[in-house]
Amino acid sequence: DGPVTPAIFRSMMIRAGERISADADRLSELDGVIGDGDHGVTMDIGWKAVRKALEQSPADETVETSCKRMAKAFLDAVGASSGPLYATAFLRAGTAVGNRLNLDAAAVVAWVEAAAQGVRERGRAEPGDKTMVDAWVPGAEAARAALGKDGDVLACLAAACEGAERGMNATKEIESRRGRSAKLGARSVGHIDPGAASTHVILCAMYDAAKD
Ligand code: ADP
Ligand code: MG
Ligand code: MG
Repeated sequence: DGPVTPAIFRSMMIRAGERISADADRLSELDGVIGDGDHGVTMDIGWKAVRKALEQSPADETVETSCKRMAKAFLDAVGASSGPLYATAFLRAGTAVGNRLNLDAAAVVAWVEAAAQGVRERGRAEPGDKTMVDAWVPGAEAARAALGKDGDVLACLAAACEGAERGMNATKEIESRRGRSAKLGARSVGHIDPGAASTHVILCAMYDAAKD
């Protein structure tokens, strides 16, 4: 397997959007238990805007430029909490890969880490607060660990997917301290955080698309 070219990056983002659409009902159901029941809808709206923005952009633009476009599209389309969180994630991730044309494994890991850090800082959420940060951060850490073991692009993305899955499942055991579900306090325990679930969908879709 080779580096992530701008065309492959685009196909990874399109796949993420397709998977979010396919899982929208499940994500809204999760949000219905500890939030306001719209997470699948808000993410689907955001990712549809991302896909449309990518379709309308020149096929050879850099990943950084695509990420800026994605950030604007997501922010303009989504009013919910996830709007500014994902807009910041995309902007930071694009900046992290800079003017590179193709992304090697190190750049892919930098992309995931910067997205995770962007969500964390924008939402002022820390790991353990029961938010999407609890899937982004272990996903990024697992990707970094895979790179440290000489992992290639696919190994790093597979690790990100697995790390996000572990993190998502761990949100079930903890009490929410951020977002709407924080109001539930101890009653939020026992339920997966919807934002962590959508993060898992996105990171695994990126791996699947890169693999094909
Ligand atoms: P809303 O809560 O506005 O309806 P969504 O349903 O789209 O927005 O997203 C809810 C998800 O957003 C939560 O499950 C959580 O993962 C994430 N979230 C909420 N607040 C924060 C925050 N401050 N930092 C990080 N993630 C957050
Ligand atoms: Mg919601
Ligand atoms: Mg809402």
